[in-house]
Amino acid sequence: MLPFGISDHSGMIIHISEVESGLKCGCICPSCKDRLVARKGTIKTHHFAHFGNSECTGSFESALHQFAKSLIEKTGSIRLPKLEASYGSYSKLLAPEQNMQFDHVHVETRVGNIVPDLIGVRKNRDLLIEFAVSHFCDEKKIKKIEKIGLSTLEIDLSEIAWDADLKEIENQILISAKRYWVFNSLQAEAINQFKVQTIEDIAANEAHEKRANDKTKKMVEREFNSRIDAIRSAIKRITSMSYPNPPALNKQSVTYTRLNKAGLVPYANFKTSCNWGFSVSRDRWQGEFLCAFVLYPIECGRTGSAFTTNRAIEWVQTQNFLHHEFENPLSEKLERKVRQTHSNFRRPYLILKDYLFFLKKEGFIIWRRGRWRPNFQAFMISNSGEVIRRRS
Ligand SMILES: [Zn+2]
Repeated sequence: MLPFGISDHSGMIIHISEVESGLKCGCICPSCKDRLVARKGTIKTHHFAHFGNSECTGSFESALHQFAKSLIEKTGSIRLPKLEASYGSYSKLLAPEQNMQFDHVHVETRVGNIVPDLIGVRKNRDLLIEFAVSHFCDEKKIKKIEKIGLSTLEIDLSEIAWDADLKEIENQILISAKRYWVFNSLQAEAINQFKVQTIEDIAANEAHEKRANDKTKKMVEREFNSRIDAIRSAIKRITSMSYPNPPALNKQSVTYTRLNKAGLVPYANFKTSCNWGFSVSRDRWQGEFLCAFVLYPIECGRTGSAFTTNRAIEWVQTQNFLHHEFENPLSEKLERKVRQTHSNFRRPYLILKDYLFFLKKEGFIIWRRGRWRPNFQAFMISNSGEVIRRRS
């Protein structure tokens, strides 16, 4: 249904409400130019009909499009939507929603290789205006507009009903119909700035991260160096003339008595490359170790007793048999560094490992399925219930 016609009198597109009824309306169809009759009865909504038996489907859409152009040409004003720019973590309101009053308006003037519906001019700046009823700006057109670099507004007229009254139609075109920026030069400029800013932010972040990494690296290095210093001064202290002898295995102790009965005393004094890391003498820690890890499980008949080297060094540590400077973990790198000044230095972990290999060689422990185990074959229980070494 058609609410618009072109007036014979003015050549302008006008609304049904502005004409007399019947042929006296003096209008032709905006699409096919056929003569129109204004139907302004009391039942149906007022509309134009073709006077001839036209097949013209000439449509409300194209009439509305023409009407919108003519309206803005006449009023020279339009409501602009708010203008925002955002990129990455940045966003800014560049202009609020506002009314724009043009100095003048051009209809269908070619700009570059496009012909916008209207060009509104204000202070020598052009604003392109497009109306969309069913055809909206496509990718190709948007590219062209961006290339020209002129701000372009598209107004969506698709929601306007043919039978709305004139005031309502005008209000929608000028103010309330959906409208948005296809392209806006201020927005493009702001987005470019945001892009530059974002690149700078990334660079700044990377620099910051690098500084933090360097700092961590330095801290690790400092810790490493201070640990070396601590180990070296501990060695110096331990090897000095005035340092008291570390506690030895007491011959009155239960441990000594048990080892002695089992025939293991000679095996609790294995000569290791150094004993600097240990706070007790060799016979003491080795003797206690033999009791706890070999004799005790055999006494209890715990055939399943098995342990790793790590478990063994932990035990040594919890017995307070290590100077704190030498506590695990003590890396190979640290050890190498200490050896530069003390060539026979060896980590307590490795010293204990040497001792375990010695016990294996002597047949007191065995290595099976990734664990150390007491060798039950090497011992027997005496008539009085004590563990003794089986002589081979
Ligand atoms: Zn027509």
